[in-house]
Amino acid sequence: MKNVLIDTHTHLDFDQFDADRDEVVYRAKEANVAGMITIGTDLQTSKKSIEIACRYHNVFAAAGIHPHDAGNASEADFAELYEMYSHPRVVAIGEVGLDYYRNLTKPDIQRRVFRRFMQWARELDKPLIIHTREAEEEILAILRDMSKKGWRGVFHCFPGDMAMAEKVMDMGFYISFTGSVTFKNSTAAEIAKNIPLERLLLETDCPFMTPVPHRGKRNEPAFVQYVAQKIAELRAIPVEQVAGYTTANALELFGITLVEEE
Ligand SMILES: [Zn+2]
Repeated sequence: MKNVLIDTHTHLDFDQFDADRDEVVYRAKEANVAGMITIGTDLQTSKKSIEIACRYHNVFAAAGIHPHDAGNASEADFAELYEMYSHPRVVAIGEVGLDYYRNLTKPDIQRRVFRRFMQWARELDKPLIIHTREAEEEILAILRDMSKKGWRGVFHCFPGDMAMAEKVMDMGFYISFTGSVTFKNSTAAEIAKNIPLERLLLETDCPFMTPVPHRGKRNEPAFVQYVAQKIAELRAIPVEQVAGYTTANALELFGITLVEEE
């Protein structure tokens, strides 16, 4: 199981995959992507993610409310989400966080919703999948306020600098990179080159963030191989080593056991 890859952040529920979801999952497995996590952004997409995870071997789900959708969630939605965390295919709380770049939800609502998920992560001992954009200092402050250390989770599509990376790793978080490491003048590439392999995860964030050489097309989990290759190239190590570490990290963080498939 050493050299397989895991795509830790996909949105297989999106309608971009409605026409060919089976083929997308099949192509991923052909491309050595042995596991995938498909991630909800609100109540409906969290439900759909669980349905998809139940349909395929080695596809897992995360349930949460994206900061863009935080303003639309009702108490009934939260109650239903809470129940989802006892589902055997649900391996994480996410994606959740703060986004002051697009600012589709008022900051105070974003903060309140994010804190609630953080409390649940503690209570239920589930890892967090965190999305943050232009809110890095504040998210660090909220995390510190609740507890300086001992967090389990990942900062997905890592948006920060090396100083931020050091801080979140110190609190216990992993750092995950998308196809953005393959883009020109990428700060993500600089960080992916330098952080410890023990803290690194891979993802596509598909259907978004399509890596070179497929930019401009829909992204899909099979393309996580380009993220792995680019990081191997940046660090001047064999891609098998990147695969070995990132897969072990993902299995450990999300408590996943892959089943054998023929
Ligand atoms: Zn996402």
